[in-house]
Amino acid sequence: MKGAISFIPEGHKIEFFEYEVPQPVPGGLVARVTQTNVCGSEVHMWKGEFGRRGIMPGHEMAGAIESLGQGTTKDWAGAAVKEGDRIAPVYYTVCNRCENCVAGNQAGCLNRVMGASHPDKPPHFTATFATHYFVKPDQHFYRIPDNVPDLIAASANCAMSQVYWALDRGRLSYGEKLLVLGAGGLGLHAMAIAKARGARVIAIDGVELRLAQAKRFGADEVIDLRKFPDFKSRQAQVRELTGGGGPDVVLEVAGIPEAFIDAVGFVRNGGRLLELGNISGGMTAPIAPSMVTFKSIEIHGIATYPPHYLKKSLDFLARHIERYPYLELCDAKFPLSKAAEALDKSERKEVTRAALIPG
Ligand SMILES: [Zn+2]
Ligand SMILES: [Zn+2]
Repeated sequence: MKGAISFIPEGHKIEFFEYEVPQPVPGGLVARVTQTNVCGSEVHMWKGEFGRRGIMPGHEMAGAIESLGQGTTKDWAGAAVKEGDRIAPVYYTVCNRCENCVAGNQAGCLNRVMGASHPDKPPHFTATFATHYFVKPDQHFYRIPDNVPDLIAASANCAMSQVYWALDRGRLSYGEKLLVLGAGGLGLHAMAIAKARGARVIAIDGVELRLAQAKRFGADEVIDLRKFPDFKSRQAQVRELTGGGGPDVVLEVAGIPEAFIDAVGFVRNGGRLLELGNISGGMTAPIAPSMVTFKSIEIHGIATYPPHYLKKSLDFLARHIERYPYLELCDAKFPLSKAAEALDKSERKEVTRAALIPG
């Protein structure tokens, strides 16, 4: 049986390749991709911000087990699995042996392995804009809870797990104030999790749809960027809404260098800044380092998450599925062959989260 997988050779161009679907190896499995999302990283890839050699898009997915490798009988939380079961895999592996892994920060693993650089390399299916996905023996995967549809589970293995880990690193606790810069997929997931732990949430964005969604995902207040175009006016608004001092924790998920400058300005003295959004090398921000010094702030950079956070995210979804409009997070579906259109619409922010349905 053949499967298809895509490749972005340069900005605004996507190619599809076909290969024989590989057999699973002992301890691993091969899944049929039932849904994969256009995440912010794929939009950066689509813009050509990931170097000249091209890249394999796709890491957020939900799938069904097509074939189990020898000895694969349970997921990474010990739940029994069989062919046909719905699963979500972590999209990389960590070594569990390097300095960071041993210290409990597997998100900082020094030997993290993601997909291959080109689909030509066997086992071919190591990214998820594809019909199939190859899960390696040391790669965490979890069964998707029965009450969580694929449409919702697909974003758990990136956006949601990453912000879950970020809020833990930032020690966001009961009664604290969280400011979220950017109400896209990451931001909305963070708002729901922050509310569940009793924080007060303020969101900033400049897109009507996103501001409305922020409110539905638990934001107590929203700030419309269009009404506060300059930093001073935004800061005044943030201060007013936080009772003068500024937020305890700022989560930057807008993904532009200017947002990082804003975040340093907004966070209260002694507060914590969580930087997730800026992921494009070469994009810089002019900033006075003395701001960090004199405000005595902590800055945490967060890419990925310790693999077991995917399990926490899936459990959170199972418990809160009725409380937040998670189904709205994917507001457009495309067949895999229309990936270019999905990426274009995502780049223009005409959709919040586009889903590709390979089947
Ligand atoms: Zn992602
Ligand atoms: Zn490691």
